Amino acid sequence: MIVMKFGGTSVEDAKSMQRVIQIIRKEQSRQPIVVLSAIAGATNTLLNAARTAQEGRLDEAILALNNLLDRHVTLMENLIDNRTSVQQIIAVSRRRLEELRNLCNGIAILGELTNRSLDAIASVGELLSSQILSEALRSQNLPVKWVDARTFMITDNEFVTAAPQFEIIDVKAREILAPIVSSKTIVVTQGFIGSNANGITTTLGRGGGDYSASIIGAAMGAEEIQIWTDVDGVLTADPRITPSAQKLRTISFREAAELAYFGAKVLHPSTIFPAVKKDIPVIVLNSKRPDNTGTRIVSRPPKTNIPVKSIACKRGITVVNVQSLRMLMAYGFLESIFSVFNKYETSVDLVSTSEVAVSLTIDNTATLDKIIAELSTFAEVSILEKQGILCIVGDQMRSSAGVADQIFHALKDINLVMISQGASEINMSIVIEESKIDEAVKRLHEHFFEPISATDMFEPVGGK
Ligand code: ASP
Ligand code: MG
Repeated sequence: MIVMKFGGTSVEDAKSMQRVIQIIRKEQSRQPIVVLSAIAGATNTLLNAARTAQEGRLDEAILALNNLLDRHVTLMENLIDNRTSVQQIIAVSRRRLEELRNLCNGIAILGELTNRSLDAIASVGELLSSQILSEALRSQNLPVKWVDARTFMITDNEFVTAAPQFEIIDVKAREILAPIVSSKTIVVTQGFIGSNANGITTTLGRGGGDYSASIIGAAMGAEEIQIWTDVDGVLTADPRITPSAQKLRTISFREAAELAYFGAKVLHPSTIFPAVKKDIPVIVLNSKRPDNTGTRIVSRPPKTNIPVKSIACKRGITVVNVQSLRMLMAYGFLESIFSVFNKYETSVDLVSTSEVAVSLTIDNTATLDKIIAELSTFAEVSILEKQGILCIVGDQMRSSAGVADQIFHALKDINLVMISQGASEINMSIVIEESKIDEAVKRLHEHFFEPISATDMFEPVGGK
């Protein structure tokens, strides 16, 4: 069997949902478990409504919820021909919305919004979208069963960022889903949502739908996990910077994890972790262009002697230089530095150290003033704003000599602020001025990819 996960933009309107149905129909013989996100924007609307209610603007919250219901009703009416099915599913959706209104009412009265309530509210997005898809599949004569993910996606009690309890999920998912799958019935369930041991709704954190797909795939021992989104897959570079960017047919899990931080559209590393452990390929595909072959993310991609696979970049980076006030770095210096970032919940991305100084990069500067003040009590601090990170990734960088030399040569007249090569040696990250990022990406792409015409590795963006 396979897992097919569709993100919010894949199910945003009737036309998109119709495309999704065609995609599922094609894969019907592979016994799919379909994992769905809320329709695009629904999760944000729901969470905002909850906050609006908490601030005492109940009417505004209710209006937003009613509009959201209307969007779903329009979707159903345009998608499902069978009038009785439409009426039934509209009734179900109305009931869910009614519960939400009551919840918002309570929140407004108390003026208190807990994470537990946030999860209860957010979960409605996935529940609605999955029920609509399930009804639409049924009305097109496909054998389908809607399954509430909260019956098997058991998590801890950390509402809003709940951690899945893998051992329990393994047992429950098989118990509940396997009989449906083996009766050749398509499972439709929700991403993102789960429940704690007491049956209270939880969520895995924003964007958690991919994580759900990967957890379900791992629990069921799926043949593959398809992540349908609105990009063609993983590219050699951003095509807006380099029009000659190509789509990669295959990359390794490790390369994907290194790239994840950069391409907001590529999967989050923790997403693929359950799949990696079970050696299940994850395929990123574009539901707007279903004939495209996407990018396969696998543990052992075919051998190649191409050292670099992708050049990613990120702008809006701030470099923090911290210099010890003593001559030599004292014992515990790094710990003191990191504890400051920790205290202000600011994540550090790159680090490079010398005997007397440490440079780090951050992209969230919300509490930078406080961080600087605190660091200054034991170190000298300077800041460089408007920087960018180039990230050059490839499994073969490890075993190919001279790649660093080629990178530095291509960037020879650009000032390199920080250089960091991870222990994995499959990634080199370089900080340069933000205004030089485009030029740097173009030059590196030209150097590493333009001489290559390996059609087994790459495919033009947009596919066939
Ligand atoms: N609907 C959820 C969100 O927008 C989960 C997901 O789409 O993956 O965060
Ligand atoms: Mg989403």
